[in-house]
Amino acid sequence: MESTMVKNLKKLLDGFLTLENHQNHEKTPSDVTQTSSSGEILNKVEDEVDLFLTSYGSISEGTLAQNLPSNNFNPGFRHNTAVQKSKKNFIRKFSDLLSTEQYAEALETYKEQTSKMDSALIEAAGSNNASLCRQLLDRREYGELVAQTNAKDAEGNTPLHLAAMHGHLKVCEILLDYGDNIDKNPINIHKKTPLHLACINNQIPLAQLLVRSGANINALDDLENTPVHYSAQLGSKDLLEWLLSKGPDLTIKNFEGKTAMEINTRESVQEIFKKEPSGSSSPLFTLNKQIDFMGMIQKINNIIRKSPNNSEDFDNIQKLSPGHFRPIKMLGKGSFGEVFLVEKKDTKQLLAMKILMKNKIMGQNLVRYAMTERNVASAVKHPFIVCLRYSFQTDNKLYLLLDYCPGGSLGGVLNREKRFSEERSRIYLCEILLALEELHKRDIIYRDLKPDNVVIDSEGHALLTDFGLSKEGVMEKDSAKSFCGSVAYLAPEILKRAGHGKAVDWYLLGVLLYEMLIGSPPFYSQNRSEMFLNIKKAKLRVPTSLTIECKNLLRDLLQKDPNKRLGSVGGASQIKQHEFFYGIDWNLVYNRGLRPPVPLMPSSVSQYLPEDMIADSQNELNSLLPGWTFIGK
Ligand code: ADP
Ligand code: MG
Repeated sequence: MESTMVKNLKKLLDGFLTLENHQNHEKTPSDVTQTSSSGEILNKVEDEVDLFLTSYGSISEGTLAQNLPSNNFNPGFRHNTAVQKSKKNFIRKFSDLLSTEQYAEALETYKEQTSKMDSALIEAAGSNNASLCRQLLDRREYGELVAQTNAKDAEGNTPLHLAAMHGHLKVCEILLDYGDNIDKNPINIHKKTPLHLACINNQIPLAQLLVRSGANINALDDLENTPVHYSAQLGSKDLLEWLLSKGPDLTIKNFEGKTAMEINTRESVQEIFKKEPSGSSSPLFTLNKQIDFMGMIQKINNIIRKSPNNSEDFDNIQKLSPGHFRPIKMLGKGSFGEVFLVEKKDTKQLLAMKILMKNKIMGQNLVRYAMTERNVASAVKHPFIVCLRYSFQTDNKLYLLLDYCPGGSLGGVLNREKRFSEERSRIYLCEILLALEELHKRDIIYRDLKPDNVVIDSEGHALLTDFGLSKEGVMEKDSAKSFCGSVAYLAPEILKRAGHGKAVDWYLLGVLLYEMLIGSPPFYSQNRSEMFLNIKKAKLRVPTSLTIECKNLLRDLLQKDPNKRLGSVGGASQIKQHEFFYGIDWNLVYNRGLRPPVPLMPSSVSQYLPEDMIADSQNELNSLLPGWTFIGK
């Protein structure tokens, strides 16, 4: 019987040989796989090997590279060909060792090679060699040898730390895009995150990219300083202003007991803190509203503590609670919480209750998303946008109560029915087009259009739901460099982080149409990086069976260059004039006059779920989001 360890080693070798074959189209001897296994050496190394191989997939702590002295970088890796050569040599050696049953040595060689790859990545990141970084992270070229983005050098710095510190923007983008499971908040031996380093070195675009990609703006280093502390200390106006607009926790004190505001008493710096942040010109809400939540929470909580019962705000907040609703069934599960069908106890009204867990959104910059969702949903009244009826919160959760759409999500319908006819697709497309037009009128980019976020109401009409990712105030041109949305539903300009505008939504409308007609999104691939590449580069292919008008619309909406995309100049009205919509009466559409198939209504409610499924365990008012509660429309 062959031990798992030997099997694993051989499997690795097979993987490498396949890679090589693919790349070279040349035959490689595979007789090594015939090797039988026995010998004492096995027992000696078995434990070590198994440990190593089983943990290999998740060496996210970078344990391997961390054990290396930092001068162990291989300078020969500076050129791409050198890496390839090193790989070839390794494979030859590895294969030889396996065929002569020198398993311990084979393992050693393998470990050495992965360490080399990790070190090379760290060095490439530090020296701004973006193409080498890209290469080292290419699984198609290196298979299991691929470099680990979370590897660390002797100082505990990851490639992201090095890129951040030196302001290597391109490298940073590559690490974020291509690294498997890259940690956005790794810490070095001083407990500093890449964002700390970017702020210390005043690397503005880099700090912005990190924050937008999920770096924690409130992270504490070994001196208990946040990135904002360092930016304040430096007194760099641009970066500090921008950081403040992201709503950091300004109550955090460092080990000397100083908040970011107290760390630099220079007048010019103090002014930045005092100034009402400007620059966002959304006619609906300003981003200013979302600033300094934690500070505001603190203030409100102080008020509440002082006068527990006679504050008006407090009254209002208390009006609704989970106890006013009865859960019936779960409708969906999202990244921050769950959606339930509930019945309002007093009126028997059926509603969709979206519950967001505060602990999943606080601390990151996601509070902003939750507030956007509430703001957008409560302000917009439109036949094809799900109406928000109430919102309230408990200690741990935020609640949104939306009109219930019994047809479920378009994603669910598509799953069942695979694809729709052009006629049916056109109806949904018209309705969603009007919804997007309404949002754009208010300078809101939706950005997260996909079948799961479109729900079907009792008459079969399609409505937009889920405003978590919408971007309010799109007037500032580069406003939208954050990287979010579902993978298959990413526009090329988002992948390129070129900054994006309303045209993103027109692209995504094209993706939606494509998926409705064909059953999968365009450029779809199981392999993420391949899909990214396809979205950015590949030519669109559409089935010949579609009508010419339809094919043209797909091409016009899925145009990669946002400036050439249909709708980029004339907005929704330009799209409405497309030949695919010939003969459509847009007033009729708006008045819900089109006739989509009507979903089966669920029979009357007979069973409820236990109420604690929507309840909050405790109900202390100690971390309220100001401005959350909203009643009626
Ligand atoms: P997330 O932000 O987690 O993606 P969504 O708002 O998209 O949450 O809701 C998740 C799922 O819940 C949707 O895909 C849909 O299936 C269901 N859902 C959401 N809102 C409604 C609604 N108003 N009526 C019926 N189902 C809904
Ligand atoms: Mg969603």
